[in-house]
Amino acid sequence: NLSDKLQRAFKSLRGQGTITEENIGEALREIRVALLEADVNLNVVKDLIDHIRARAVGQEVMTALSPTEQVIKIVRDELIALLGKDTARFKFASQPPTVILMAGLQGSGKTTTSGKLAAWLQKGGHRPMLVSVDVYRPAAREQLKIVAKSIKANLYEGDLKGETAGTALVERLAKEARREAIITGCDTLIVDTAGRLHIDEDLMDEMQRLKALLNPQEILFIADAMTGQDAVRSADEFHKRFSLTGIVLTKMDGDARGGAALSIRHVTGQPVKFIGMGEKPDAFEPFHPDRIVSRILGMGDIMTLIEKAEEKLDRKKSEDFAKKALSGDGFSLEDFRDQLRQIKKLGSLQSIMKMLPSVGPFQGIQQMADQVDESQFTRVEAIINSMTKKERANHEIISGSRRKRIANGSGTSVQEVNQLLRQYAQMRKMFKSAGKGGMLQRKLMGSL
Ligand code: GDP
Ligand code: MG
Repeated sequence: NLSDKLQRAFKSLRGQGTITEENIGEALREIRVALLEADVNLNVVKDLIDHIRARAVGQEVMTALSPTEQVIKIVRDELIALLGKDTARFKFASQPPTVILMAGLQGSGKTTTSGKLAAWLQKGGHRPMLVSVDVYRPAAREQLKIVAKSIKANLYEGDLKGETAGTALVERLAKEARREAIITGCDTLIVDTAGRLHIDEDLMDEMQRLKALLNPQEILFIADAMTGQDAVRSADEFHKRFSLTGIVLTKMDGDARGGAALSIRHVTGQPVKFIGMGEKPDAFEPFHPDRIVSRILGMGDIMTLIEKAEEKLDRKKSEDFAKKALSGDGFSLEDFRDQLRQIKKLGSLQSIMKMLPSVGPFQGIQQMADQVDESQFTRVEAIINSMTKKERANHEIISGSRRKRIANGSGTSVQEVNQLLRQYAQMRKMFKSAGKGGMLQRKLMGSL
């Protein structure tokens, strides 16, 4: 991915004393290739490289930063500038309901995102109503119904009354839904529309009419980040026709880690307002340019992780664990199991690992993430569950016969039990020694 490539580009700068025309040139060439390979639009890359060169060359070498850090900082600043400095605001109507039109090609994630957006609004104290005007595929309307039910959001189903699928029916449903939203006191109306495999006149015409009819505050273009430049092109086309107010990039949990985000903003001039990070309704977050840039540059998305952790984790428990782990006593298997359960609340281990920086002590962790076997997580918990309280408190008493019993009880093998105990002992020791010198804290800080 782009992160790895950029990391490699920066490596060539490492160990150089000063920034010269020569060594920045080389790094820039590599950055250029990395961005192009990550599917960033050619014009965007050109602009970016020009800006970076202009800023870097002739700049005095700062004593506080190594040349590599200095260039990374410039690249980072420029990428953030490109994406827009702040998180984009969401527009609400002065007179409710606020209407949000979801536009995009088929399969881009409109229906899924409609649900995510409704859940996000609900969390913010709003009362959204969902409606699907995708009358062309019965399954599409059913899909939104299921999503709405799962998040307990209001849905206007409407009655097709056997009417032929077409723009007239779409307009009727949209009108009825808005009336329903007003009657039931919903302050936002999310309109999930039909997509097509390709942009065609029928689709454009229907969108145009919906826009004229509903006069929406937000027209969001839902773009599949995995489709790279195709997403950029269709966003551009939609924007020229309907004046989008923002973009939602879906499937950002996949490999496409930034190319599309960078280009789409530059080409349409419209902000990316949200990103989708998975199929579940809560795999959705406002777009933070600075965080995405850090992710692109391989610094991980620590802020997102921290925010998530704050929301879901028991802070005191985590602190207690850290204190204990770093102390002379070390943490017990019981503490370890508690931590596992906490971590599980954050989502899959894989998604957590992907958010960690791929530098410093975490080098290689992103690749490791791809090989993580989630079921192993469950097996580790099962093994610890099969221990007695005494065993969990003191792993040293777990003899051969006890190991056999634990393996049987947890449906695992003695080998697996051995492996877990070995890893646990290692980790425990590592934490304890880190606690002595404050090394771990320093290491963690250094990587940010
Ligand atoms: P629509 O045709 O535009 O309404 O697209 P859907 O909402 O039906 O989504 C198409 C597929 O993409 C479904 O399988 C979704 O589960 C999946 N999807 C949508 N958003 C995301 C996302 O952010 N991450 C991942 N991994 N899958 C997504
Ligand atoms: Mg759909």
